[in-house]
Amino acid sequence: MTYPKRMLVENLAWSDEINTRDPAYFRRLASNQQPNVLWIGCSDSRVPEAITRAMPGEVFVHRNIANLVADNDESLSSVLEYAVTVLQVEHVIVCGHHCCGGVQAALRPPAPELPNVNRRIGGIRRLSALHSAELRELPSFEARADRLAELNVLAQVQALQAMPLIQRAQRPVQIHGWIFSMHEGRLKTLTGAPCTADYDTTAEAAAG
Ligand SMILES: [Zn+2]
Repeated sequence: MTYPKRMLVENLAWSDEINTRDPAYFRRLASNQQPNVLWIGCSDSRVPEAITRAMPGEVFVHRNIANLVADNDESLSSVLEYAVTVLQVEHVIVCGHHCCGGVQAALRPPAPELPNVNRRIGGIRRLSALHSAELRELPSFEARADRLAELNVLAQVQALQAMPLIQRAQRPVQIHGWIFSMHEGRLKTLTGAPCTADYDTTAEAAAG
């Protein structure tokens, strides 16, 4: 069976399972979407928003190589505009990740067979030059790339905060910078407080 064929078969099983559990689920899903969050993540197959157990209808999504935010990127701009103006999301999460191929590529010489990727990651190259002293201190290529992935998230958060669309949003928008540590499967916050305390409280409350 090809992988696309398997996806179609799995979808049948998935929709049947949900219908059995909750016959009104798809009627509710079809009626409206009210996501509270816009997720700007990397296209990497290992980092879907599903790592947060998000369900359909909960997260509006834009993904591109190395989770980049640029105001001349019409795809990103239109997603952001719709999320902020129509859906009025309260939160925008920029989620980068360790082991990011796009970020690693920015630490290597440009690959001639990837002109579009090279153009996209130009900003990460400049960011790497800006933080070269800090990155040079790190013991390995992987460690430099992982730190650069974090710095890249913070740079995208700053870029978002400077956008008129965000500054003039009818409903105030909180911007979050997260990194997915692939070795542990854990999300870590790079802006604001870590999320572990909230999680522990909830877990304790559920257990109690
Ligand atoms: Zn990536």
